Amino acid sequence: MDFKNFELIYKENRHEIKDKQAIESKLKEIIGENNVSTKDIDILAYTKDTTLLAFNWVIEGKIAGLPDFITWPETVDQISEILKLANKEKIPVIPFAEGSGVVGGAIPIHGGIIVDMKKFNKILDINDKNLTVTAQTGINGMNLERYLNAKGYTAGHIPQSLYISSLGGWIAHRAAGQFSTKYGKIEDIVLGMEIILPQGEIINFKTIPRASTGPQLDKLFIGAEGTLGIVTKATLKIWPYPEKRALISYAFPTIENSFEAISQILRVQIYPGVIRIYDQFETERHFPDVEQAKDKVMVIFVCEGNSKLVDLEESITREKCENNLGVECGEHPVEHWFETRFRVTETSMLPTYKIVFDTLEVASLWENAPVIYHSVLESMDKVKGNLIITAHVSHFYPNGVGIYFSFGGVPPKEKSDLEFYQECWDTTIKAVLDAGGSIAHHHGIGINRSHWMEDEWGKSMKVMRDIKNLLDPNNILNPGKIYVNTWKRGEN
Ligand SMILES: Cc1cc2nc3c(=O)[nH]c(=O)nc-3n(C[C@H](O)[C@H](O)[C@H](O)COP(=O)(O)OP(=O)(O)OC[C@H]3O[C@@H](n4cnc5c(N)ncnc54)[C@H](O)[C@@H]3O)c2cc1C
Repeated sequence: MDFKNFELIYKENRHEIKDKQAIESKLKEIIGENNVSTKDIDILAYTKDTTLLAFNWVIEGKIAGLPDFITWPETVDQISEILKLANKEKIPVIPFAEGSGVVGGAIPIHGGIIVDMKKFNKILDINDKNLTVTAQTGINGMNLERYLNAKGYTAGHIPQSLYISSLGGWIAHRAAGQFSTKYGKIEDIVLGMEIILPQGEIINFKTIPRASTGPQLDKLFIGAEGTLGIVTKATLKIWPYPEKRALISYAFPTIENSFEAISQILRVQIYPGVIRIYDQFETERHFPDVEQAKDKVMVIFVCEGNSKLVDLEESITREKCENNLGVECGEHPVEHWFETRFRVTETSMLPTYKIVFDTLEVASLWENAPVIYHSVLESMDKVKGNLIITAHVSHFYPNGVGIYFSFGGVPPKEKSDLEFYQECWDTTIKAVLDAGGSIAHHHGIGINRSHWMEDEWGKSMKVMRDIKNLLDPNNILNPGKIYVNTWKRGEN
């Protein structure tokens, strides 16, 4: 296939490699003939992640990034050797797992070597005494959770992308699962890690429940999106599989009433596994047959764990909802959510109608949450071409929330898909920052948010860049992400 016939979106970033054949031979020496590919079919498969705009590009014959080599290493030493070679030859290396990331984190915008982690797929140990599981990080999320369930446990980390994401991808993006209000986010779940640094050195963070041993360096690598190291092994907390589940749903007159009820539940340290608020528009979309929820805001809860505790959690959850004008809607809406929670066919259909659609999640303290919700809706209504803007809220803390917005529209004639997409993202993020929120809750930075990092972090951004330069002086590990302005703000 001649890739010159495709429009390359990030073409200005690409580094050409002079002697590709020599590099290919060296890679084959390191990991074996069958673990390296330059076949068109493989190259094409690794040109994008699941950034939704990339589906529009595929239909239009455009390619996001073009890698040079696809590799499937099987041992840490092999990855270490690939990184040493890449440093010597100044070739970018992009860790790639399941490609379900939605911010462009795994897109090889500079070209280079894809290190696909799928052969790192073994579960190494379950320890019942310590309540831990140790696994290689390329393992598919569903394979890990099913294995744990069969042995009577859960890791409690169930992202909507469970079937299509990996342990390493979760760590790289500081992921959050649907049951996160009870079990925590991935940074609360990881207890130990093995990491290969950009220049090939292998380091281990030992498995401990907690320590007071200076700054906790391991945390630096949770959320680093493959820019500071490749995570090859991790030990996670696990829990006995829940004994009982209570399915609860209430409809509220306004989103403010639902926020109030939930903050009162968390304030008394009741942590339902699942809490999901659907704004009026999403309630209409997901629960059209629930009469009590018409023109209202639906909230579903799942309390799970020890039976006696679940009963107590259920009664307090109901009391707080009823004190805040909640109307009981029964178990059916929650059962409907369980049946449909991994289904995302709707969104992948939209590009076929030339609709540019995406979702983005942000974080906020309780006091700013209503302002953020309303100001994003108001500002997105003004974006020419945008047709929908809706929200749900699915991650909660005693101190605040993670809000998840969905937008979709048809770019006006004068704008390309990318320009329209960037305008929608920038409009949402600006409204969030102006109202005191954070630009990302759990999807990460990748390409899409890198130009907002200065606004998010202020002077700390320089410290972050210094750390990147120190660990990766040749900037070979996943370049063009997090630390640089890959979207040029102001040119939309
Ligand atoms: C339908 C859908 C639903 C989703 N739902 C959720 C959700 O509920 N919660 C949530 O948090 N996210 C969700 N996501 C986003 C996505 O699934 C996560 O970001 C996920 O963590 C990415 O994992 P992956 O294995 O697919 O990683 P990839 O997309 O392959 O890679 C993501 C990033 O991680 C890096 N990376 C991958 N493996 C490693 C490694 N071993 N070491 C270092 N860096 C590595 C890559 O370089 C890249 O920067 C969803 C996505 C989709 C498409």
